[in-house]
Amino acid sequence: MEERNDGGRSFERPMYEGNWTCAQCGTAITKLPFPPREGSDVYCQECYRNRPKPQRDFRR
Ligand SMILES: [Zn+2]
Repeated sequence: MEERNDGGRSFERPMYEGNWTCAQCGTAITKLPFPPREGSDVYCQECYRNRPKPQRDFRR
């Protein structure tokens, strides 16, 4: 195991590695804290945070 010191706390949750592009800002994403769904947009951490939360809308 390699030790990294990037100034942050180390979390024990697993990260998913791959090559994605943020659907909003175009940033390259190599790690995700969650498994990306195939066919759906991937957002970088910042854009994901700034995304408006999906609201329930029962209108049709
Ligand atoms: Zn982004």
